[in-house]
Amino acid sequence: MGNEYIPLPDMEMGMNFDHAYPDRLGSICNVLVNRTWVNGNTPIITQAVGFQSSKVAKRRGREGKLPKGVVKIYGMHLEEASDVLTEIAAIDPGCTVNWIFNRSVIKKKRAFECAGDYVESDAINCENSDCITNHEEGRKKYHIVSKGPPLTARCHYCEREFEIVYR
Ligand SMILES: [Zn+2]
Repeated sequence: MGNEYIPLPDMEMGMNFDHAYPDRLGSICNVLVNRTWVNGNTPIITQAVGFQSSKVAKRRGREGKLPKGVVKIYGMHLEEASDVLTEIAAIDPGCTVNWIFNRSVIKKKRAFECAGDYVESDAINCENSDCITNHEEGRKKYHIVSKGPPLTARCHYCEREFEIVYR
């Protein structure tokens, strides 16, 4: 086996999460990889870091450009307010979500706009350090109180309300 190069397909149809914080890419990809896809067909999912983005700098309240993360899903669309998109919104509310069809962006939203009203996620920690969810294993459950910005969640167990950092 030499150096193999696998060219990525052009995206005819799919989704692109852009201007994401690079340190949240792992959590976003975990959500996508661990979900059950329709018909059991896991799509091609790619992540990339290192591109420079003025939007990420702006989200951080900075001038110029900062590295951004990008996640692409080939051949599949996620619905707004679906469990997956709500979880991604709660992980990185400020990233940009693009729906691509016929090689064109047919819809563009910020992730927080795509949140539903309930999310279960191990990637989001309740801000109450005494909350049972921070001391026991198990799915963490939150009610989305406001899409914001900032996206505001209420813990299902201790009812603490907190803002999910948007910038
Ligand atoms: Zn809690």
